[in-house]
Amino acid sequence: MTYPTTPSYLYTFSVPTPFPVGPVNLYLAEGEPLTLLDAGPRYDPARKALTEALAERGYRVADLQRLILTHAHPDHCGLAAELVRESGAEVMAHAETDLICLYQPQRRLLLSGDHLLRDISSNPLVEPPAPGQTERPRRLVEYMAQLRRVAEMDIALTLPGHGPPITDHRALIRERLAFHEKRARHILETMGDEALTTHEIVSQLFSGLDPINHFLAISEVIGHLQWLEVEGRVTRREQGGVARWRGKTRY
Ligand SMILES: [Zn+2]
Repeated sequence: MTYPTTPSYLYTFSVPTPFPVGPVNLYLAEGEPLTLLDAGPRYDPARKALTEALAERGYRVADLQRLILTHAHPDHCGLAAELVRESGAEVMAHAETDLICLYQPQRRLLLSGDHLLRDISSNPLVEPPAPGQTERPRRLVEYMAQLRRVAEMDIALTLPGHGPPITDHRALIRERLAFHEKRARHILETMGDEALTTHEIVSQLFSGLDPINHFLAISEVIGHLQWLEVEGRVTRREQGGVARWRGKTRY
């Protein structure tokens, strides 16, 4: 078996970001149309690194003909408007700014954006219901379903939005699913036999968090409760505008 490598037409480089996530990977597909996957952040060191990377291949920003954006986060698309202004490049992105991955079946190549990263576990954030809706989106549930879908795909090499290439996507996805299962079980154990509000569950699991980490903790707990609900392992009852969760006892 040959070791999977990045195709020669795909020039890979990373640019710095001012965010805790660190540098972001950009991919330049050489040929017609000259295509850049993700733009990087609006940040001087990133602008400089991008200009230099293009120059290394003999291009300028003005030569870009197409810009594909994997998702609408500032580390990936902050520079997009500027690049388009300078080049007139056509922009391709998901209409609802959801995350997209690009798959090349002949080369068994996946450009995974932030969907699958080797060293960082994605933690989808809680969101309010969409306008006109009463239910919140179930982002963790959707993310887990998409991970399972990607696990079934025939992929030799995954090129992510951050960090090094991934050569065993199935092992990594197994690891991620096991991680969330462990978290979910921990929440179930903490709940015991009581009917608790999300806030009560979060307070039992964590204490002394600063506001940002408190929000992340709530986000994580709601995500896992929604997943447990879909799996039939917890029930949710709303009374007087307050929702309480209860673990289903073993049959
Ligand atoms: Zn990112």
